[in-house]
Amino acid sequence: MKIICIGRNYAEHAKEMKAEAPTEPVFFMKPDTALLKEVDFYYPEFTKELHHEIELVVKISKAGKHIEEQFAHKYYEEIGLGIDFTARDIQAKCKEKGLPWEKAKAFDNSAPIGKFISKSNLELNNISFELKVNGQSKQVGNSNQMIFSIDKIISYVSKFVSLKVGDLIYTGTPEGVAAVQIGDSLEGFVNGERFLQLNIK
Ligand code: MG
Repeated sequence: MKIICIGRNYAEHAKEMKAEAPTEPVFFMKPDTALLKEVDFYYPEFTKELHHEIELVVKISKAGKHIEEQFAHKYYEEIGLGIDFTARDIQAKCKEKGLPWEKAKAFDNSAPIGKFISKSNLELNNISFELKVNGQSKQVGNSNQMIFSIDKIISYVSKFVSLKVGDLIYTGTPEGVAAVQIGDSLEGFVNGERFLQLNIK
């Protein structure tokens, strides 16, 4: 499986990153070794500024390419919640030099994932989600703030990259990204229900 991540999909987050809101989806990938299903995350030694990015995640349930937006809903059944961990200090250096972001984004365990639920239990254009760090709310978002909808993302990405069963799409983060510290406890919620818990070790 592969992990596809959408960048700058929330206008306020693009703004806090001092980036322009995109006119077409921005995506990058993480390898399967980035996926973390455990509750403990070990802070990597190569960064001093590891940022949380809480994101709704779509699990692909049917293989496809060149998927038209009107049919995209047939390619996923479940929605979950994950974190797109980002070594912001490394990413800033990569951006400065015009280099790819992989070192900052695709490292081992950089994609913690929580539980999934059937999309039939959700109103897809009104999913609220939240990240709390040590019990304090840090990021709050709603799928209705996405610049590009899930169906648009699937259609766009599948023009370039074939989608396979089990692939995950991290759909972008709302504003409020910030550094985590060793000892922090992270909790992610979808519509008020806890989907994800992570200890930074
Ligand atoms: Mg992200």
